[in-house]
Amino acid sequence: EKKRGPRMHPELLELYEVTDRVLGVGTFATVKEIKLKSTGKSYALKIILKKTLQGKGAMLDTEISVLSKVRHPNCVSLLELFETEDAVYLVTDLAQGGELFEQLLEKGFYTESDAARLVYEILLGVEYLHNMDVVHRDLKPENLLFKDKSENATLMITDFGLSKILTNNNDVLMTACGTPGYVAPEVLEQIGHGKPVDIWSVGVIAYTLLCGYTPFWGEDQPALFESIIAAQYEYEEEYWNDISALAKSFIDSLLVRTAERRPTATQALSHPWFRAMLEQDMVTP
Ligand code: ADP
Ligand code: MG
Repeated sequence: EKKRGPRMHPELLELYEVTDRVLGVGTFATVKEIKLKSTGKSYALKIILKKTLQGKGAMLDTEISVLSKVRHPNCVSLLELFETEDAVYLVTDLAQGGELFEQLLEKGFYTESDAARLVYEILLGVEYLHNMDVVHRDLKPENLLFKDKSENATLMITDFGLSKILTNNNDVLMTACGTPGYVAPEVLEQIGHGKPVDIWSVGVIAYTLLCGYTPFWGEDQPALFESIIAAQYEYEEEYWNDISALAKSFIDSLLVRTAERRPTATQALSHPWFRAMLEQDMVTP
């Protein structure tokens, strides 16, 4: 018999066929494709081993009750939950189009109007989550998934809410690949993790989509942290020459050192960069 890790929840196995297709492996979870037997429709199954919860299992329940209410086109919905002694199984919408991270690697960078559309969608999701008092804390291209493989596929935020429980402060600093390039200064200084941390990350994402590299950089982790905490970044001529002043002013408005001075998601959505890009799209199809 094949080894499948922990024994799955019996009811889950009754309702769903668990395929061998692994959709992704994150910091805490393995995600597999599953099929609802009654309809044949595919979903994603996120498996979190309880040993990674480190005694914070009780927090999981409160958090999940919030997450199960999240219904927004730019957020991956939690549809069902199963629990065994060893693991928690979350059934969510399936995002067929893969990670923004992968697409960015493929493309190198995005045109301004494509980047603006993607950032706008991320902000719509963030605005919704913040209105529900959910702070993501780990927004980055690996946690942004395309709904399908089409050209203009909707972008969906995943992996939110649980970071509060699953991450202790040291983990934030050592997420996958050891590149916490999207994390806000106040998270590194361990003095804050409110809604503005997500706004900062959106700023880093916007910068990265437009040029193909992250704004903060260092030879090693301490150097990277220093660069983030100083909140100093540049628009290198070679890569930023053709990018509009509005795009830069948008990024500058988010990558502000003092958390309280950053715009809310709603305010960020009304930045003139988005309107300018939309109008441009309408003239040049
Ligand atoms: P972790 O908390 O461990 O980081 P994630 O929720 O980010 O877990 O999932 C890890 C990876 O699995 C994601 O980066 C993505 O590639 C894939 N994945 C997660 N959720 C889905 C989904 N709903 N549809 C398709 N792929 C997904
Ligand atoms: Mg993740």
